[in-house]
Amino acid sequence: MKPGRMLYQVLSSLFKKTATLDYPHDKSQKIKGFRGRLKAYPQRCIGCKMCMRDCPSQAIIIKEVGSKQFEAQIDLSKCIYCGQCADVCPKMALEITDEFELAQFDPEKLKIVFHVELKKNT
Ligand code: SF4
Ligand code: SF4
Repeated sequence: MKPGRMLYQVLSSLFKKTATLDYPHDKSQKIKGFRGRLKAYPQRCIGCKMCMRDCPSQAIIIKEVGSKQFEAQIDLSKCIYCGQCADVCPKMALEITDEFELAQFDPEKLKIVFHVELKKNT
């Protein structure tokens, strides 16, 4: 490239909007449809295990821990953020959020654990 052309490109770029974000200082831009951390709403869960059945990476374990009592464990270190569990849940007890800063030193912090106790007439 000729020096004159290069100088023109350098100077003109000074007045153009940047294509990148000043991350992590600027977190303003949200990407539509982005699939990030799962959020659970335990009070809606009925322990049907449909999320566990459909999860392609076996990141969800729902087990009975008593009469009409369930423990749900979602391991985000296995999750591929496909959103299948949230789509299949009949009670909208799981939601995909746009949170993406999930790095942890302790893998236990990447587990979502909740307990469900169904009402006697459920
Ligand atoms: S988002 Fe996909 S991989 Fe992650 S827990 Fe749900 S079904 Fe499994
Ligand atoms: S989270 Fe939804 S799909 Fe999974 S067990 Fe609970 S109600 Fe069923």
